[in-house]
Amino acid sequence: MAKGKINVSVENIFPLIKKFLYSDHEIFLRELISNATDATLKLKHLSTIGEAKVDYGDPKIEVKIDKEGKKLHIIDQGVGMSKEEVEKYINEVAFSGAEEFLEKYKDTAKDSGIIGHFGLGFYSAFMVAEKVEIITKSYVDEESAVHWTCDGSPEFALTEADKKDRGTEIILHIAEDSTEFLEEHRIRELLVKYNKFMPVPIKFGTKEIDDPEFEPKTIKDKDGKETKEPHKKITVDNIINNPNPAWTKQPSDLKDEDYSSFYRELYPMQFEEPLFNIHLNVDYPFNLTGILYFPKLTTNIDIQKDRIQLYQNQVFVTDNVEGIVPEFLQMLRGVIDSPDIPLNVSRSYLQADGAVKKISSYITKKVADKLQSLFKNDREGFEKKWNDIKIVIEYGMLSEPKFYEKAFKFALFPTVDDSYFTFDELIEKVKPAQTDKDKNIVLLYATNADEQHSYIEEAKEKGYEVLLLDSPIVSHLIQKIEGENSELSAEKQPIKFARVDSDFIDNLIKKDEDKVSKLTEEEQTKLKEIVEGVVPKEYTVQLEALDSNANPFVITIPEFMRRMKEMS
Ligand code: ADP
Ligand code: MG
Repeated sequence: MAKGKINVSVENIFPLIKKFLYSDHEIFLRELISNATDATLKLKHLSTIGEAKVDYGDPKIEVKIDKEGKKLHIIDQGVGMSKEEVEKYINEVAFSGAEEFLEKYKDTAKDSGIIGHFGLGFYSAFMVAEKVEIITKSYVDEESAVHWTCDGSPEFALTEADKKDRGTEIILHIAEDSTEFLEEHRIRELLVKYNKFMPVPIKFGTKEIDDPEFEPKTIKDKDGKETKEPHKKITVDNIINNPNPAWTKQPSDLKDEDYSSFYRELYPMQFEEPLFNIHLNVDYPFNLTGILYFPKLTTNIDIQKDRIQLYQNQVFVTDNVEGIVPEFLQMLRGVIDSPDIPLNVSRSYLQADGAVKKISSYITKKVADKLQSLFKNDREGFEKKWNDIKIVIEYGMLSEPKFYEKAFKFALFPTVDDSYFTFDELIEKVKPAQTDKDKNIVLLYATNADEQHSYIEEAKEKGYEVLLLDSPIVSHLIQKIEGENSELSAEKQPIKFARVDSDFIDNLIKKDEDKVSKLTEEEQTKLKEIVEGVVPKEYTVQLEALDSNANPFVITIPEFMRRMKEMS
């Protein structure tokens, strides 16, 4: 048997990286800002543990466009790199300095928020640049600054530089086919999309604001009228991100207003308040934080818009959470952030991944628990929200067995008179009156209160409860509930749902065993004959005892006859 080694030469692999590393060229900026963030967080960590004797200060990352020079600059004040480090981390493709750092400081740095992972991010710069420069100075004093230049071929130049302050400047010479990345609006769009909640402040240009120190005096204009003098403007850094988004904080530190203002930060175009939120926070057996919001779902909601956003260490990854969040919860909004979701892999792999499965069931459980506690602690409020949330809950009960089990205790069944019962309450209520010959408990429901008005009235007159079940998937849910309750223990009765305008209503035995008529057999037959004499031939007349004290008889006409009559 021959054995050999596959020889991967950089000449071959470089164009491949450029073309196929990421299908989306725009993510180069996310990658470079992630590296700048990592460099800053590393320095923060090293100075916290006393290994770097530096004035950490208030570092930020700056993004600058030089339109004439066709260059894009990304500048940080992080750890920087020595000559040896450039050789090791940059010249070795697929060697991740981030991973090495986490490995080296694994006891203390696991919560440092370091993003890098695969050691490929930096090279995504070549998807949009024909030449890339790195000017970098390590935080270690004795190291001198270095200048690395590479035009995308495997050759690079490495020289000394005269950079004074620590940190790294990356200069991209934007390629002819990528000049969109020299446009201010395009870069701003990318910064807002990917970096809006990254942990280090990101400066992009400056802006004018009212000077907060300045107090306008009252002055007289030329006609002697009193006015305030114009506000003084000052120029400040335009910081595009919020480094401390709500989901990274402790739930106990947040008020209701904080949750709703974060909602607006996430979805600036959403003016409707969410109904409630669920703060996710777990660090074992996987790491996950986030906030999910229940929006009002009654209005024609566009579920393709304003979807749940997935982050990894505060870097936006995608708003397609298929496979990570169970389908029925994809109608919610909000963010989830987890470093434990494998990203550069296909969706079908994701669905099979153990960690992802656990994440998905954790989210389901948290949502069920939150609903349960809302139901328990504020039943009235829960009832008011029911119509806005029922679609999600009913859909969840249909699609996730675990959720069904939990939700069965708080799912509500509204009646046409606006009373809300849980399933168990409902059964208790209707059991005495709504049992049929085969001992099924029959739950009557309407799907449209207006169209089925007369049937509803009739059923109510007979003392039956009529539910109003009008959501589009309720018929499936009914089937499921009937199925779940068909094989019950001897003392429990099976459940049947019946539409209020179906024949079913006639099968209900309302009378108890002891409701025996006061009339004798003979009298009853006589009475029946008399009644039959006065109603039209096609009607079948039945005599039924109602109860032993009140009216001795009612005359019932079969449902189908009644309907025929209605039609003629
Ligand atoms: P990863 O971030 O996954 O480790 P990258 O290809 O993005 O891989 O970067 C490779 C390495 O280069 C980083 O791990 C880091 O050591 C170094 N590096 C990249 N950018 C910077 C920077 N701005 N400051 C300091 N080091 C950097
Ligand atoms: Mg990186």
